[in-house]
Amino acid sequence: MIELHNVSKTYSNGTKGLNGINLTIAHGEFVVIVGLSGAGKSTLLRSINRLHDITEGDIRIGSQSITKAKGSQLRRIRRDIGMIFQSFNLVKRTTVLRNVLAGRVGYHSTLRTILGRFPKSDIELAFQALDRVNIVEKAYSRADQLSGGQQQRVAIARVLAQEARVILADEPVASLDPLTTKQVMDDLKKINTELGITTIVNLHFIDLARQYATRIIGLRAGEVVFDGPVSEATDER
Ligand code: ADP
Ligand code: ADP
Repeated sequence: MIELHNVSKTYSNGTKGLNGINLTIAHGEFVVIVGLSGAGKSTLLRSINRLHDITEGDIRIGSQSITKAKGSQLRRIRRDIGMIFQSFNLVKRTTVLRNVLAGRVGYHSTLRTILGRFPKSDIELAFQALDRVNIVEKAYSRADQLSGGQQQRVAIARVLAQEARVILADEPVASLDPLTTKQVMDDLKKINTELGITTIVNLHFIDLARQYATRIIGLRAGEVVFDGPVSEATDER
């Protein structure tokens, strides 16, 4: 499970991003974090895989503290955690396949990945991942020639190739139209159900949260103001 103990994050300019967060997320949950812009959703996700350091508290992934981990231990913990962003974060001028293979980088020496030599088993994993999000036929297209929804599915395939056990998705559908939003959310849900990957998604909209989440966590000013099953979540954000 993922545990946050009394987590606070104050940015260097003095802004409080998170204030005393305590949360336990079990294997296989599909958690949606909701809250207005500035509530701390992004700060929370970035804290969990330590894209930035927290100011206080401890975050544990399974039996290990990511807060205290260093070097190879930190890299090993991070391998379990896949990140999906609003802006897809693909390498635009290279192929979809190469982008998905980037999920394997944490498993090999730096030199091997700089040279771009991935073992055959990685290529197979990459194709399986693309198949799961239904875009195998785009494997050799340039990433920037795909639609927004397709690019986000490539990003999902990348975390699948990574064999992540946890997906953190920071506003993954914020720049997509309603139809594409549904496709991407359906893919995330399918992966959660079929592979048991723990999923934590930041969303602006409570309606979308209600459709997909098993649990909704509401943030306001860096604090948890709601935490419960979907049936209890009201329209208040
Ligand atoms: P959300 O994702 O819910 O929109 P954020 O986590 O981005 O909220 O922001 C939480 C608070 O932290 C806001 O007050 C925001 O302005 C502030 N904040 C976010 N990133 C930074 C940063 N890099 N430096 C300073 N303040 C930040
Ligand atoms: P156990 O569940 O058997 O007590 P741990 O909690 O130590 O074991 O986690 C075992 C593995 O599961 C670790 O590799 C860890 O990274 C991963 N893991 C931990 N928490 C979660 C989670 N919430 N969702 C998915 N995988 C997780």
